[in-house]
Amino acid sequence: MKEILENNRIWVERMLAQDPQYFEKLALGQKPQYLFIGCSDSRVPASAITGTGPGEMFVHRNIANMVVHTDMNLLSVLQYAVEVLKVQDIIVCGHYGCGGVAAAAAGKQYGLIDNWLTNIRDVIRLHEKEFLGIEDEDQRLRRLVEMNVIEQVRNLGKTNIIQNAMRGGNPVRLHGLVYDIREGLLKDLKVDDALMSDFEHIYGTEAMEHAEEVLEDQVEATDDLGAKNKASN
Ligand SMILES: [Zn+2]
Repeated sequence: MKEILENNRIWVERMLAQDPQYFEKLALGQKPQYLFIGCSDSRVPASAITGTGPGEMFVHRNIANMVVHTDMNLLSVLQYAVEVLKVQDIIVCGHYGCGGVAAAAAGKQYGLIDNWLTNIRDVIRLHEKEFLGIEDEDQRLRRLVEMNVIEQVRNLGKTNIIQNAMRGGNPVRLHGLVYDIREGLLKDLKVDDALMSDFEHIYGTEAMEHAEEVLEDQVEATDDLGAKNKASN
């Protein structure tokens, strides 16, 4: 721990040498362009691999960079990033050699985390034919990492947060990247809009205002029915 505090002091000195107002400026607020959803793996540090500094990237990390629709943590980060910070680009970043992805494919129990890994097993089910068709285990897992990123970008598109943003004043761009730990390079999977709109007829929803209108119509209809029943009694 001593080392961390010492490193911190050295870093502060270095930043202040470059710009004496560096921290005062940062303290005024943040306006990051990016939201980064990555794996918790210590070898995938969001800022270092993207060359972004403090204030430039809002970050959420979990095991295997998942977008799970019951995860209040992820959803809160997403809503705040999109609606308040108004980020413009959302990146789901997976990485080859991901332990979470490998564990999901291994068919063993690991305890509590199995519930989380089930979400990756769902990705295997969705792409079972392609997954089982790859003979080499290393290649199969590498492809699963990519499939998982693509499905998590899709999962973003399924949220009402992203759907409303796309129709409103802040149409964010969604990206799927994979980081190669062995090379240090990021690969863009080019998860395009066509892929997102494939399932629009299933996952596309109208905004709440409409739901409220429907509800009001239903209440009015019920009231009318009540009044008629009263009159006829
Ligand atoms: Zn990982």
